[in-house]
Amino acid sequence: MSQKADDIRARESEHVLQTYKRQPVVFVRGRGSRLYDVDGREYLDLVSGIGVASLGHAHPGLTAAIADQASTLLHVSNLYYHPLQAEVATRLATLSGLPRAFFCNSGTEAVEACLKFARRYWYTQGISARTEFVAVRGGFSGRTMGALSVTHSDHYRIPFAPLLGPVTFVDPDSPGTLVAAVTDRTAAIIAEPIRGEGGVRPMSQAFADAIVEACRKTGTLYIADEVQTGLGRTGWPFGFQRFGLQPDLISVGKALGSGVPVGAALVSERIAQTISAGDHGSTYGGNLLACRAALFFLEQLMDRGLLDHVKEAGDHLERRLRTLALTHPVIAEVRGAGLMRGLELQIDATPVVDHAREAGLLVNRTDEKVVRLLPPLNIEIDDIDRGVDTLDTVLATVEAEVPA
Ligand code: PLP
Repeated sequence: MSQKADDIRARESEHVLQTYKRQPVVFVRGRGSRLYDVDGREYLDLVSGIGVASLGHAHPGLTAAIADQASTLLHVSNLYYHPLQAEVATRLATLSGLPRAFFCNSGTEAVEACLKFARRYWYTQGISARTEFVAVRGGFSGRTMGALSVTHSDHYRIPFAPLLGPVTFVDPDSPGTLVAAVTDRTAAIIAEPIRGEGGVRPMSQAFADAIVEACRKTGTLYIADEVQTGLGRTGWPFGFQRFGLQPDLISVGKALGSGVPVGAALVSERIAQTISAGDHGSTYGGNLLACRAALFFLEQLMDRGLLDHVKEAGDHLERRLRTLALTHPVIAEVRGAGLMRGLELQIDATPVVDHAREAGLLVNRTDEKVVRLLPPLNIEIDDIDRGVDTLDTVLATVEAEVPA
């Protein structure tokens, strides 16, 4: 790393709370699927800020929309109306089938809102003892106290106990345990259609069927945590649609603002009817800048062919990764859907991520052995090929270093 980069890292390490284990690279600009570091080096970005830079970097249309909004009106608070929340909410309703949205600023806030709205629903029904949640082993829903309570990892949970309870975690490979765990005290089941942080592990159809059965038997609600899988990432508008599920609540974030922080909790009409003014709120939630960015993204997804592109590019990526797995014994499994893919390795994924970065390619490690790919949704097919070609070389290097 250059002196410039070292100086930035040194200042950060002194004054920024050390909650992140960052990689040794300082980015200063981007364009499309490329990022450039402080020394001018180019990287192909197959991480897109963990699925946030959904339109790549510095998208000209998004840049123009944001600039226009910034020079018109940024924020008025939720004390007043502005025209954009309704437009974004209408599009989200069309995509999800859930008619109402609450706007917030992140995925974890969207999950918090869903948990609160689920409890509020039962409270309004006069069933105030129905407060429990059922979540999934290996699931991740964020790190605020409520979202952390339905996140499985002890590593994240233990130092902050006691958390919100009771929460029962069930084994996603054992659908019967879900049905047994859900009772007439369960407010809601929360489950990601593909566990993202948990290693890009898709829900099985049997587990999805168990959610349907548990909801039918007990009347409990289903919260689809779509923060990572939602809004086109899997080649479907929402990941739950692959399984024929009908959630009562959906959390969204990441891709929605294409880099501008915005999240939303989407709710069914029967839940919406139980929510009153003051039940929940956010000073920034759904401000004009966030909504303008979200609207631009949703227009690309719904009207400009982005969803079809994800399907095509996602199929191409899958084909290339499956071929890669045939020639690299270090790859144990290829998983995922659309442009959300994971390569489970026989070894810790760290050397792959490091060698790839040194070769100008950004990929991400999750759940220790998994190389996760979350490229921009508008990535070009040629760039997918370039990325997989580089991975091919990197895997060969790693295999030579650490025989599988
Ligand atoms: N839910 C899921 C499924 C996620 O993947 C994440 C983040 O990775 C979150 C919730 C939390 O979102 P955020 O980091 O925007 O608060």
